[in-house]
Amino acid sequence: MIQVLIYSIMVIAFIIWLTNESKHKSKWGVNLKRVYCPVCQTKQPIIRIPDNKAEALWGGTTCPKCHTHLDKYGDVIHKL
Ligand SMILES: [Zn+2]
Repeated sequence: MIQVLIYSIMVIAFIIWLTNESKHKSKWGVNLKRVYCPVCQTKQPIIRIPDNKAEALWGGTTCPKCHTHLDKYGDVIHKL
């Protein structure tokens, strides 16, 4: 029973931490909202094909229209 309690506290702590990280746009955070390309306003697909290791690891996407690299929060990483 005490193990269940410890496990629950760990899960809650993790969720609080993750929410906090997401607020600060940390690379550890998660963004569940759809991202729009700031350059051409294209809605980015939910299912993204990672272009490189960083995208696969940290999230982020490459705009299918203008090939701008975006992070998972929709901010431009670099423009081609
Ligand atoms: Zn774009």
